[in-house]
Amino acid sequence: MNFEHSDKVKEYQSRLQSFMDEHIYPVESEVAKFHHDKKNEWQLWPNFEELKLKAQKAGLWNLFLPATYQKFSPGLTNLEYAPLAEMMGRVLWSSEIFNCSAPDTGNMEVLARYGNAEQQNKWLLPLLKGKIRSSFLMTEPQVASSDATNIETSIIKDGNEYIINGHKVWSSGALNPNCEIAIVMGKTDPTAPRHIQQSMILVPINTPGLTIQRPLTVFGYNDSPEGHGEITLVNVRVPEENIILGEGRGFEIAQGRLGPGRIHHCMRLIGMAQRSLELMAYRANNRVAFGKTFKDFSSIRQEIAISQCEIDQARLLCLSAADKMDKKGNKEAKDLIGMIKIVAPNMALRVIDRAMQIHGGMGLSQDFPMAHYFAAARMLRLADGPDEVHLYQLGKSIIHKYSN
Ligand SMILES: Cc1cc2nc3c(=O)[nH]c(=O)nc-3n(C[C@H](O)[C@H](O)[C@H](O)COP(=O)(O)OP(=O)(O)OC[C@H]3O[C@@H](n4cnc5c(N)ncnc54)[C@H](O)[C@@H]3O)c2cc1C
Repeated sequence: MNFEHSDKVKEYQSRLQSFMDEHIYPVESEVAKFHHDKKNEWQLWPNFEELKLKAQKAGLWNLFLPATYQKFSPGLTNLEYAPLAEMMGRVLWSSEIFNCSAPDTGNMEVLARYGNAEQQNKWLLPLLKGKIRSSFLMTEPQVASSDATNIETSIIKDGNEYIINGHKVWSSGALNPNCEIAIVMGKTDPTAPRHIQQSMILVPINTPGLTIQRPLTVFGYNDSPEGHGEITLVNVRVPEENIILGEGRGFEIAQGRLGPGRIHHCMRLIGMAQRSLELMAYRANNRVAFGKTFKDFSSIRQEIAISQCEIDQARLLCLSAADKMDKKGNKEAKDLIGMIKIVAPNMALRVIDRAMQIHGGMGLSQDFPMAHYFAAARMLRLADGPDEVHLYQLGKSIIHKYSN
């Protein structure tokens, strides 16, 4: 075990830190103000594309993409990417500046791994260049979607086309003005064995019959400009070549998609928690009540100390999961990925909550990042699978290990 980052990572950390200091933090409150204004709903902050171009020129682009796709990225391992994703996580919208944001990262990995040459040319290339955005449509309101075998959307062959009918919720990214493509999960054969009923298919977002009914909010945040759409698909027709990998391969693809995606969210959550902790410490140094500076209250010292303990525990677990993914593959690392997926959002929620409390009333306002962090961390106890499902699977795996 080596607890030091490599020189390569340190160099990336320093370049990313400089970029964040020069281009992201100075505009953070301006961007937040822009998105809080109702009249700017579903619009990009005007200088967004310019910042993306700068990041691309600085070589801070597609950092999440594994070494197998070096043509489009610096080819970092998961372990190398983790501390960089943590830095991006400190500002909720910043990962898109580096083309490292969900759900595009997961969708790009699907297309890179499982897409054919034509699908890659048409959709992966513009995604890798940051020209378009994407959405992932799995969850449905009428069924418990944490069990993906319940998904009911039908994908039926009709000549050289597929016809799609279904109802989706929480389609993150679908409202982004640059969103052009959705990966839709549904059933091509409801009579097949449970795990080969599902398929994934590419559906351009402007296909007739696909309607974004409304944006859903998370604790009142609409997360503009990405948004989370409720979408209906009524007799949506796409060419047969839009199926990814082939009929019945949906589960197989979902397994490949979720490993890296889940851990990226965890890395960013650690960034949110770390920044909350730093804000807590600044506040403790500068605020006075009952004749004492906050830093001298024992309870506040304890809150800060326990927060650092919890952040470092989660960070090490996250790095350990990333390392195992690099060395043994996503499948072998599934228990560690499950562990960090359970640990990171809950840890972040506790730390962010303490930070809000120490900041008093203003801690809940738009003047500090904690309120929005809290909403983001809370949703990650559900998105990519609820805690209970990960605990259920992890428990099963551990019990199985000691079965004889
Ligand atoms: C902000 C946000 C963004 C999202 N983005 C996307 C997206 O881009 N694309 C997409 O397809 N989906 C997305 N989701 C949906 C998310 O993945 C689902 O909400 C999640 O998988 C749970 O499915 P469900 O809502 O149908 O809950 P259900 O499956 O109905 O589960 C509800 C609850 O039942 C309990 N439960 C379920 N299984 C077990 C078990 N085995 N043991 C014990 N208790 C259990 C848990 O408490 C669970 O929370 C997003 C969700 C949110 C909130």
